[in-house]
Amino acid sequence: MASTIFEKHTPGRKGYTLPANDVDIKLEKCIPNEFSRKEETRLPEVSELDVMRHFLELSQMNHCIEKGFYPLGSCTMKYNPKINETLARNDAFNNLHPFQGEGTTQGVLEIMHELQNDLAEISGFSKVTLQPVAGAHGEFTGLLIMKAYHDYNGNSHKNKIILPDSAHGTNPASVVLAGFEVVEIKSNDKGLVDIEDLRAHVDENTAGFMLTNPNTLGLFETQVEEISEIIHSVDGLMYMDGANFNAILGIVKPGEMGFDIMHYNLHKTFATPHGGGGPGSGPIGVRDDLAKFLPAPMVDKKDDKYFLDYSHTDNSLGKVHSFFGNFAVNLRAYIYIKMLGTKGLRRVSENAVINANYIQKKLEKFYDIPYKDQYCMHEFVASGDWQKEKYGIKTLDIAKRILDKGYHAPTIYFPLIVSEAMMIEPTETESMETLDDFINSMIEIAKECEENPDLLKNAPLNTPVRRVDDTLAVRQLNVKFEL
Ligand SMILES: *Cc1c(COP(=O)(O)O)cnc(C)c1O
Repeated sequence: MASTIFEKHTPGRKGYTLPANDVDIKLEKCIPNEFSRKEETRLPEVSELDVMRHFLELSQMNHCIEKGFYPLGSCTMKYNPKINETLARNDAFNNLHPFQGEGTTQGVLEIMHELQNDLAEISGFSKVTLQPVAGAHGEFTGLLIMKAYHDYNGNSHKNKIILPDSAHGTNPASVVLAGFEVVEIKSNDKGLVDIEDLRAHVDENTAGFMLTNPNTLGLFETQVEEISEIIHSVDGLMYMDGANFNAILGIVKPGEMGFDIMHYNLHKTFATPHGGGGPGSGPIGVRDDLAKFLPAPMVDKKDDKYFLDYSHTDNSLGKVHSFFGNFAVNLRAYIYIKMLGTKGLRRVSENAVINANYIQKKLEKFYDIPYKDQYCMHEFVASGDWQKEKYGIKTLDIAKRILDKGYHAPTIYFPLIVSEAMMIEPTETESMETLDDFINSMIEIAKECEENPDLLKNAPLNTPVRRVDDTLAVRQLNVKFEL
């Protein structure tokens, strides 16, 4: 009788053969009776081919960069070169044990040391730790360093971190987790930090300022020097959220712009796989006098030997992650940096910026683009306001229709300061043909809003799962498989 629970079950069908049992052991002797299974497990009975087809089919229900364009703003969904994967799977790395001594791990220590130095060089900072395992974790670590710095200087009263209203949600969350208070300031009509509002909020309790550059509108913050003078004048520290570093590689260095601390999202900028919650890597770089607060250990080199340096532990935060961070992710970023070199990294950013501007320009007649008077950097933010006002179509509907066209949707409703926001980031790895196809699809969708609004309200039509009820899913979350 076919099981009613497993749609791919045929009684007696097998996907394996086991060798004949040649061990003479009574099961009852090994497993106490009370723990042994009383009836057969209910598992699907399927052939090897059934299993292959099933999992391949499941994998194809998901979107991924290898399947199609993925313009998810702020997330930098670039193609991750497969050589990173091949090398990261090498036994020389996979068979390492984190407790292995320095004598047998010189090679990996060298890689970590070089990656620390390369990231420092690319960003203009003095020292880099590879320990934090996400951008948000880097933020948290950077804020703890701010705290350590102020405590060290006897300024424990400094308890406020200022950030603009365009900031990513992780920024205020990290601020609160690190024990500071959030002070939010406005962006001006150009989408940049409003300097007057900043001045009005800076005082002797200001511990620091957090800024993403280019910011989450995809605009380059041109006033960083002025901002950093204001913040430094009260001995505050400047934190750069480096999630958008993909726009400025090899062009400007945040450490030379006035920032004191910065995190890198290796899983965004430096081509390591991400999505679905990790694993990621969010190293941070700091200026020279803050290096003593960095998590321990750092990798250092003396007399041609690499070693784990705990010598700064008097002031160090200690550890922010077990062992040395996500080594396999850091390794992929290392390979990516070495493959591209200085010129290659700069070209990454140039192409990322050109691609974003190309789409922005081609779409400006069809969608409201609030800050289109200036060039964007590696991404831009469009708005669905026109479609909402004229046809009652929301950005959510547009995003769902984009899925029907075979793309991942852009980031929507972020940043919060643009109504009906759609944040589009193509990255440098897409060809002009792909960009043109996407542009044409977006223009088609704009026409559909006018001619067939119901189509959009019912989208997506072609995906394995249609529109889900997000609210219900959150209220009655059930992730358990039940027989
Ligand atoms: C992605 C992102 C972060 C957080 O990085 P995670 O690695 O996801 O923790 C912070 N700020 C901005 C602007 C981002 O895009």
